[in-house]
Amino acid sequence: MGTYFKNIWEGIWTVLVGMKITWSHLFTPAVTIQYPDVKLKLPERARNRLYVNMDDCIGCDQCAMACPVDCITIETLKSTPDVDLGLTSVGTKKRLYVPRFDIDIAKCCYCGLCVPPCPTECIKMTDVYEFSEYERNNLIYRYATMTPAEIDAAKTKLAAYEKEQAAKKAAAPPKPATPAPARVPVGAKPAGVPVAKPASSPAPTPVDPPENPENKS
Ligand code: SF4
Ligand code: SF4
Repeated sequence: MGTYFKNIWEGIWTVLVGMKITWSHLFTPAVTIQYPDVKLKLPERARNRLYVNMDDCIGCDQCAMACPVDCITIETLKSTPDVDLGLTSVGTKKRLYVPRFDIDIAKCCYCGLCVPPCPTECIKMTDVYEFSEYERNNLIYRYATMTPAEIDAAKTKLAAYEKEQAAKKAAAPPKPATPAPARVPVGAKPAGVPVAKPASSPAPTPVDPPENPENKS
């Protein structure tokens, strides 16, 4: 009989202890947020998804060279002299087309090393951190804005220009050969250069020996 009432008391006591903990948490401030309905404010310099403003990109490849995991792939194409690609927002003249600018954000470790070397400040970290995908290939961001037709047209034009330049070079009269300067062995005196002789030193003037004092008389 005693064990019966003891078990009942232990059951009630356990419930009371549990309820005490539950009630104490009702009056403490929450340490979690209701993500994604509520989002924390990010620090000012948080590193998240990258963005590239292709209007300012000059295709210099500095960002790709700085990347420690090689997740930036850039391809460039020379423009012909008659094409004006314009200026960037910082006044740098654009001379190259950029038909490909891919960032594989699945490989990116958000180190931020690609941002400082950019001379036109067109690659930067954003505050976007929600970009999960079901397909891994969807995490390769393609920033280039040229269409395949534009790329083909630029390539065709460049090939024609280079062909024309090569034809002009081939048709130009050969330049007269300039005689190569004779090679002078190390330590040898160059031919035709007079070697100055050292000026002859004057003959020593004879000095009279001191007189013998005994001869003085
Ligand atoms: S943040 Fe780092 S890893 Fe990501 S693209 Fe830039 S350099 Fe590469
Ligand atoms: S460093 Fe800047 S300008 Fe140069 S290729 Fe990268 S994004 Fe373009």
